[in-house]
Amino acid sequence: MLGVTYSSEFLANPKNHRSRASLLLEGPGGNVLVDCPPEMRLQLTGAGIKSVESVIVTHAHADHVMGMDDLRSLCILEQRSIPIYTLPVHQEDIRRIYPYAFREPPLGVAYPKFDLYDASPVLNLGGMEIRTFVVLHGKVPVIGIRVNDMAYITDVSFIPPEVEEQLQGLDVLIVDAVRRAPHPNHFHLDKAIEVGRSLGAKKVVLTHLSHDYDHDVTNAELPPGFELAFDGMKLEI
Ligand SMILES: [Zn+2]
Repeated sequence: MLGVTYSSEFLANPKNHRSRASLLLEGPGGNVLVDCPPEMRLQLTGAGIKSVESVIVTHAHADHVMGMDDLRSLCILEQRSIPIYTLPVHQEDIRRIYPYAFREPPLGVAYPKFDLYDASPVLNLGGMEIRTFVVLHGKVPVIGIRVNDMAYITDVSFIPPEVEEQLQGLDVLIVDAVRRAPHPNHFHLDKAIEVGRSLGAKKVVLTHLSHDYDHDVTNAELPPGFELAFDGMKLEI
């Protein structure tokens, strides 16, 4: 199946209704959210998540940061600012998009409040040791993460060899497969399969999916060990 499909059969499957990619790590010490897509509020409320300890922003493209204003509710509920971990270049974008999140609000008004931190190679958040590394998405540096034997790499067109070394022995690799046709700034389906195989991950979950993919039809075609992500998917790591 190629291209955009809007048939009623396609739309009848809830797994073909995709919001933008993000990940929530439920750690023993708290929840760590990876990216804040435009649907973040609905994703969190839909999953019954009432608190987020901290946030990792992989990069500052719109589909990864445009939900950040809604962190406001969490700041109000918990009476605190939210720590945001990202690369310095993306911190500049976040300050530009959300200048008010770094100012004191006028009396009677609530602003979201962000504390920006550099994403160091090892972050201890939510009671988890989270390893971070940088891959390329076209020319944009994007943070990937590894927790235990799970790695999450959204938005990638190139994984540097030194990062590949950190991706050995994975039980689960969650990786970009934006569409079926090659893309200059993303892995496409065949590339994601090739990378998943060469890294030897036991299970590969494909994410950042466009509507090229009918969930059930594609899953039936994928090689063993590969599957498509879907909204609300849960994995034990
Ligand atoms: Zn992007």
